[in-house]
Amino acid sequence: MLLLKDHTSTELAEALADLAPPDRLIRQIHAAACRGDTELPASVPTVSPKLLEKIRQRVSTPSLTVVNKVVSPEDGFAKYLFRGEGTGQFEAVRIPLLHRPDDKKYVICVSSQVGCALGCVFCATGRMGFQRNLATWEIVDQVVQIQADSEHPVRGVVFMGMGEPMLNYDRVIRAAKIFSEPCGLAISGKAITISTVGVVPGIRRFTAEQHPYRLIVSLTSATVEKRLSLFPIERIHPLPELMEAVREYHAATNKRVTFAWTVLGGINTSRQDARDLAELTRGLPILLDLIDVNDPTGQFRRPTSDEANAFRDALREELAAPVQRRYSGGQDIHGACGMLAAVTAAEG
Ligand code: SF4
Repeated sequence: MLLLKDHTSTELAEALADLAPPDRLIRQIHAAACRGDTELPASVPTVSPKLLEKIRQRVSTPSLTVVNKVVSPEDGFAKYLFRGEGTGQFEAVRIPLLHRPDDKKYVICVSSQVGCALGCVFCATGRMGFQRNLATWEIVDQVVQIQADSEHPVRGVVFMGMGEPMLNYDRVIRAAKIFSEPCGLAISGKAITISTVGVVPGIRRFTAEQHPYRLIVSLTSATVEKRLSLFPIERIHPLPELMEAVREYHAATNKRVTFAWTVLGGINTSRQDARDLAELTRGLPILLDLIDVNDPTGQFRRPTSDEANAFRDALREELAAPVQRRYSGGQDIHGACGMLAAVTAAEG
């Protein structure tokens, strides 16, 4: 059986080539799956019922079960808990873009795995351990279902939910291709962001394949010593190797590199941290996203406002690069960065 949300329309056309379906029909089938239809249409003008029936026998459109949905009364972030075909549950977060009241739209933060093997110390998903990779259709259907449940269009996708996208590379990239197909969800490639905490082979492959999607590297510290205490992956792909891959990415694409910096009060907010970052990235055009930590265990704390301001001043003085503070919403519904652990509101 061909699972519709597992394939791009080109792959679908190839798989059904022996039936010689018209291109227009392939696009219609893809569009229907991306609208959330679970059946092929009963009839399509100018398409023979026989051909439609033959296709019907070859394809299926599984969909995720929505186990729970919670909307934050504070900022409108919505967290969806899904179950797919395999073990475990996983989450996606609908982020309203609040700064444009006349042009309301959403960005969806999707999961690529159930749990995560990388165990970054400040992340709830990391504490779950790894359960499994999500199938392409399970990644795609997070956006399909949320779009079908939403009054405004989804205009962006960030792979910053549960899991390390670069460890489920093929399925993540295929899902990104499906998101950007014009006959389906039509999300611009530039509005699709893939993040990594430093899986160097994935970054190198991403560079070689020249995808239009954005890359974010979660750096959080510019020294090997601190990264070792925060990211177990530092033992496998140490910072110098990561930076070599990042510099190769920039050289091949000429794109500014975005680094995410999870701000951990008292840990990575000193002037020396800013200097280390400036030293590490010398000559490399970067953008720095600051994201306050969300750690319900209380092991890590957000910076005080004095600390956050002092760090921002230090970055301004030491680093010749734009710095933006990312609003990390949905904290009250455990939907903010680092908080996804696939528990329902009642359990959580
Ligand atoms: Fe995994 Fe990302 Fe959490 Fe690290 S931050 S444990 S890579 S989900």
